Amino acid sequence: MLQAYSLFEGSFSVDVSKKFIPFDPAVDSKNDRPASMFIQVHPFLIETANGLVLCDTGLGLTNSDGKLLLYENIEKLGYSPKDVKYVLMSHLHKDHAGGMVSFTDHVGRIAFPEAEYIVQRGEWEDAYSGINSSYRTEIFDVVQRSGNLNLVEGDGKVNEEVEYCLSGGHTQHHQTFHINYGKDHYFFGGDVLPEPEMIFQNHSAKYDYDGHLSKKLRQEYWENGASNDWIYLFYHATSIAIGKPTMQFDRSFTAIEAK
Ligand SMILES: [Zn+2]
Repeated sequence: MLQAYSLFEGSFSVDVSKKFIPFDPAVDSKNDRPASMFIQVHPFLIETANGLVLCDTGLGLTNSDGKLLLYENIEKLGYSPKDVKYVLMSHLHKDHAGGMVSFTDHVGRIAFPEAEYIVQRGEWEDAYSGINSSYRTEIFDVVQRSGNLNLVEGDGKVNEEVEYCLSGGHTQHHQTFHINYGKDHYFFGGDVLPEPEMIFQNHSAKYDYDGHLSKKLRQEYWENGASNDWIYLFYHATSIAIGKPTMQFDRSFTAIEAK
């Protein structure tokens, strides 16, 4: 039996500066933020037979005491950050990689000391090599020193339950994950499948490395999962974060909240 939870970190607007500015729909107006995208950030925690699995790590925001919101959210579920055994990284953009490390008084420490961090080797190299404001290399320095890093290549298995697949699309070495146990099949598509609406809008996104590939992959993921009861984890969802396909009257599928 698997169980997944959203570790919701917040709502944000993002403009060309690529800065994530907190956006509270109750008090902030979208009109005041021209040329912005509005997104939410949902890292996910999954309970498995082999321990807790974390899917991406958010921006790494902290509360007023300097404690990671990720920690707070994990503790609210009755767990400790030390219970996390695997940190699955779809890619290393800063809104996914921020919580890999915890910074207190400017000293970075690995945020999940008991966990293996699963990162695609190509993504790791790209994150260091390019001059790209989406990557924060000060995080990766800490991860590299920690001994917790497991660089993987292509497709493979982390254990009997967790599988990684090199997808490309959003970044050249973006990866997706399948978490399987018995009849339960969770799919984490990272930023190739960040929101359920993208399946049905069916257009390519300008911010992708290869938008056409992402678009094609989204259709594949949906077709493969719809008939096999996959549960989808949508990292940037504004509507449904943990969703499953359901058939409509016209026999097409739509996504509904998975319970
Ligand atoms: Zn990204």
